[in-house]
Amino acid sequence: MNPDAQLFVAGRWRPAEDGATAPVYNPATEEEIGRHAVASVGDLDEAVEAAARAFPGWRAIGPLERSRLMRRAAGLVRDRAAAIASIMTAEQGKPVAEAEREIRNSADIIEWFAEEGRRAYGRVIPSRSPDVMQTVLEEPIGIVAGFSPWNFPIAQAARKIAAALAAGCPIILKGPEDTPACCAAFVAAFAEAGIPEGVVSLFFGDPATISDHLIAHPGVRKISFTGSTTVGKLLAAKAGAHMKRCTMELGGHAPAIVCDDADLDVALKTLAMAKFRNAGQVCIAPTRFLVQHRVYDAFLDMFIGTAKDIRVGNGADPASAMGPLAHGRRLEAMESLLADGLKHGGVAELGGQRVGNKGHFFAPTVVTGLARDARLMNEEPFGPVALFAPFNDLEEAIAEANRLPYGLAAYAFTRSAAVAHKLSSAIETGMLSINHHGMSLPEVPHGGIKDSGYGSEGGLEALKGYMTFKFVTHAVG
Ligand code: NAD
Repeated sequence: MNPDAQLFVAGRWRPAEDGATAPVYNPATEEEIGRHAVASVGDLDEAVEAAARAFPGWRAIGPLERSRLMRRAAGLVRDRAAAIASIMTAEQGKPVAEAEREIRNSADIIEWFAEEGRRAYGRVIPSRSPDVMQTVLEEPIGIVAGFSPWNFPIAQAARKIAAALAAGCPIILKGPEDTPACCAAFVAAFAEAGIPEGVVSLFFGDPATISDHLIAHPGVRKISFTGSTTVGKLLAAKAGAHMKRCTMELGGHAPAIVCDDADLDVALKTLAMAKFRNAGQVCIAPTRFLVQHRVYDAFLDMFIGTAKDIRVGNGADPASAMGPLAHGRRLEAMESLLADGLKHGGVAELGGQRVGNKGHFFAPTVVTGLARDARLMNEEPFGPVALFAPFNDLEEAIAEANRLPYGLAAYAFTRSAAVAHKLSSAIETGMLSINHHGMSLPEVPHGGIKDSGYGSEGGLEALKGYMTFKFVTHAVG
């Protein structure tokens, strides 16, 4: 059993005010392994009041002290990585080594933002008159409402909490209801590191109730959401109605272009890892494998050879390379997408169905021959499915890559500097990784364009998302 996940409000772990709870299941066994509190609107109001009390102090202690406290939290997270990883695997499914890597990376994220928060310099703009001083001050935007998902229950929470705190903002986080206990264990490290009461709060409950209330609440100034494009559009519309700033990190359908001059071994190693880690439930996972004709058959064979050897099993077993999907909704979605794909010309060269009849396991899957109007070619699968299609020339690959309204991540493999240069400007995407996988580091921008959202969850751009810019002009004469 995992620990039950309570709410963290005004510096205190406690049940919901009306005592409501909901079950949490292990996706590998389908057994109930714990419960989480279900917040009411009264609980949320208490958190906003606590955050409003905490904001002036958190802002005033300044970046050096904030950084010191955040670094202490990162240290606690790192010390507890193994223990938190086993909680994460039990509720999310990913192999325990993968969970532990995510937690260590999250400690890196906290540390990077802790340092970058010390460099919010603002700027001085040379004035037209010697008697006038013009400055731009960077200030914390205020109370943040964050919504983090279940696929990376700690890394996605880390990005929001760390950037908000480093900027000087309190944050009220709605954690993932499917994977609450590991997120709570992560937030506990901030409390124990001495982050003042009310600066970080954690909630679980009915997502729509929580987002409706917090987005409309006059005390909240900024919304940060990671999840599906459908929900992101709803929340962004509500935020617009209340003139709240947003960061929206939404879905993708990443193209991976493999040219005939590419190092196929590098492409295989990189793309197979990126496709099947976390059972494909990754917003930047490669999905449409666009492979140039001359190497299409060879690369497809290589990819199937690697994918079929992936050992699928309970993530708690160290021998498992890929765990189950995180919940039954994903399994149903995969089965429905595959059934539609097979009706639209698709051939499952590998996998295509669930594994066993207990747990939400789905086989590593490779599909060829899909018509452009198959749902799989248009909807984010968010599962271990690679869609292969051949292309003749680069223009054709670029047109297919840009066909969808998504624009989150893209991959390309080529030995030609000219082709790489052309793709760098032609692909409509927030992130492009050429000849390796180099995305999602704390220090680099992480976000999309088009229907994949706006704003960034990484790098300097993320920090600026939690700040306002005040222009001050001062006549000193
Ligand atoms: P979903 O759309 O119901 O939920 C996605 C996330 O949004 C969850 O964390 C959920 O708690 C939250 N959510 C849902 N409705 C909300 C609301 N009204 N207010 C606030 N938060 C809300 O779908 P799901 O079955 O959980 O996940 C499926 C889809 O979500 C996937 O296909 C994928 O596209 C997307 N997703 C994306 C990411 C990402 O990293 N960008 C992460 C998780 C899920």
